[in-house]
Amino acid sequence: MTLIDGRDISQQIFAEIATQVKAMAQAGKTTPHLVAVLVGHDGASETYVAAKMRACERCGIRGTTLRFEDSVTEDQLVGAIQSLNNDPDVDGFIVQLPLPAHINEQRVIQAIDFRKDVDGFHPMNVGRMAIGLPCFVTATPQGILTLLDRYNIATDGRHCVVVGRSNIVGKPVAALLMQKSQPGNCTVTVCHSATPDLGRFTRTADILITAVGQPRLITADMVKPGAAIFDVGITRQPDPTSPGGWKLCGDVDFDNVAPLCSFITPVPGGVGPMSVASLMQNTLKAHNKQL
Ligand code: NDP
Repeated sequence: MTLIDGRDISQQIFAEIATQVKAMAQAGKTTPHLVAVLVGHDGASETYVAAKMRACERCGIRGTTLRFEDSVTEDQLVGAIQSLNNDPDVDGFIVQLPLPAHINEQRVIQAIDFRKDVDGFHPMNVGRMAIGLPCFVTATPQGILTLLDRYNIATDGRHCVVVGRSNIVGKPVAALLMQKSQPGNCTVTVCHSATPDLGRFTRTADILITAVGQPRLITADMVKPGAAIFDVGITRQPDPTSPGGWKLCGDVDFDNVAPLCSFITPVPGGVGPMSVASLMQNTLKAHNKQL
């Protein structure tokens, strides 16, 4: 069994991007610039944006946080997005979600120029991804593809079962892996909360991707021996032995499932760290005008 080390791969990606950005700077060219729009003072959002800014530093990418108070109106926010769309010094930007309840998230996302939408949430990017055109892919599915690639996990003709059908993980990863590309060319099955007898499907998976958020949903009897498992789920569970009194758990009953697998991602340290790495890759792509 190989433990997939998302932390290590994300560090490798940061180093690779840093080399490319340094070469741009040495050649007198402009370097990539990412802006994160942060509304309000939600603790989790602050943490995520800070992590993204730290990753920018690691990569030599210019990172700017544009802050708004909770009281910002939808029109003001859309106005700010239009300014970012038109600013030639900004290669890409993200709007950290969730937004306050009085703001329509879809209107905000759709105001972003899809060529700067490095989160890949704009319907143009989602549609282009679905039909295999150049696009920005959302962070977690892109991270899973990178891990498949870097660990040389064969996907061609294999059966991939995705558990979860969210717009940010389940649906895009299923769409990507069914495409005639590498990694890809899988036969894909998507399961969700209305799937009866989940194990009947997961037991047939060569590659199992779970994005549910239910600790230990996937037990050893639900896994085909030799499968490669990508556990996207992250749930906080009480743990009196941890200093904070809690620990992070994935969807997979790791201790019992891991010995059966060919590859498995731990939680934390598997798929999670790849999200920020994907954002950095997308920012570089935006700078290089690869769309
Ligand atoms: P959502 O809540 O949007 O989607 C969960 C999906 O799981 C839904 O499609 C739901 O089905 C399905 N589901 C719920 N219960 C079951 C069940 N018993 N059997 C089968 N399917 C079920 O979640 P997200 O996709 O946003 O996130 C999923 C998990 O991944 C969360 O724990 C989240 O924290 C984590 N996450 C981790 C990331 C990372 O970087 N590692 C990034 C993003 C998310 P239905 O559609 O029918 O409701």
